[in-house]
Amino acid sequence: MINDRPTHLRVNLDAVLNNYRKLDKLNGLKTSLAVVKADSYGLGAKVIADYLYKNGVRHFAVATLEEALELKKYIKESLLLVLGVTNPKNVKYAVENNISLTCPSKEWFEEALKELEKIDGKLKLHIKLETGMNRIGTSEVEELMEIHNLFYSEKVEFEGIFSHYSNADGEDNEYDDYQTANFNSLVKLFKLKPKYIHIENSAGTIKYSDRNDICNLSRIGIALYGCYPSSNIERLNKLSLEPVASLVSKVTHVKKVPKGTKIGYGISYETQEDEYIATIPIGYADGLLRRAQGFKLNVAGEECEIVGRVCMDQLMVRCSENIKVGDDVLVFGEYNNQKISVDDFADYQKTISYEIFCCINRRVPRKYYLNNTEL
Ligand SMILES: *Cc1c(COP(=O)(O)O)cnc(C)c1O
Repeated sequence: MINDRPTHLRVNLDAVLNNYRKLDKLNGLKTSLAVVKADSYGLGAKVIADYLYKNGVRHFAVATLEEALELKKYIKESLLLVLGVTNPKNVKYAVENNISLTCPSKEWFEEALKELEKIDGKLKLHIKLETGMNRIGTSEVEELMEIHNLFYSEKVEFEGIFSHYSNADGEDNEYDDYQTANFNSLVKLFKLKPKYIHIENSAGTIKYSDRNDICNLSRIGIALYGCYPSSNIERLNKLSLEPVASLVSKVTHVKKVPKGTKIGYGISYETQEDEYIATIPIGYADGLLRRAQGFKLNVAGEECEIVGRVCMDQLMVRCSENIKVGDDVLVFGEYNNQKISVDDFADYQKTISYEIFCCINRRVPRKYYLNNTEL
């Protein structure tokens, strides 16, 4: 297939691996698990997981069973944990493919055991403890003891126990400490000991790198992809992450228009003087949303404001007379020595880098680079 439109997402694989190694070093003796859910936050899980695996990473997590099945052929000999709730009717796919599942409740466990009776093999499970996020998992002591006892079944392996911080990227540690205390006291109830104990995400990993706790694994997501979970975490200054993703395009049309010219749908912008307007082939169908109107993109080294409404497939910027058709455009990331932080792009739209990455539509080709050479 030809690739006519110049809009694409550049993903720097060196940077992902370097970020992994920096975090792993910070993590000390704990094992660092790469979270590659939601197609590696939209950046492309097959290529990223394959590359990390080839460079020795052996612990991964995804959100769904479908994601796990898709990745298993790239990351054979590794832990691959599904973090969300899998339909217990489908546990056989996890057993057959050596995929580990999350157990969110006793009820789920019992349903899974019924299915497991019908097949050979063992299911590896990580118990999800509820400590403060209130999403999935349980904190009921009685229920947890019943879950504990179900592990005496030959059909299951008690591989892990975990929870999730809900405010680790926040300003203070108060709620993390509350969750940690809950976690510690619930884990203690289990006489059988699992191989993995984990609660940290990227924020927790960076924040608590100096702490000695009961965990031996951390789950690292956004930091792998070069972003700090929040400015609070960035301010800790513990490591310098390398940007991974850049959204780029090229100018497809330029014209000079007189003062008073109305630009785009809804005539929301009118030129203040004679102006140059450049058109760029990217729009909300690519995930560059209408709320980005007014943000300044980089066009051939020049800061150019998005003027008028963002259309489905194109947008317009105000530029100087120097801008020509074919000039490079940077929406966020680093390209040709230009730089726009994805956090600035996200802040402008009152969101977070996670959402920006995940919302880049599949119409935008992902291109992968190693040492600045396209794969
Ligand atoms: C997404 C997710 C992570 C990774 O979070 P980051 O903030 O991206 O590091 C870790 N654990 C669970 C349960 C998650 O859902």
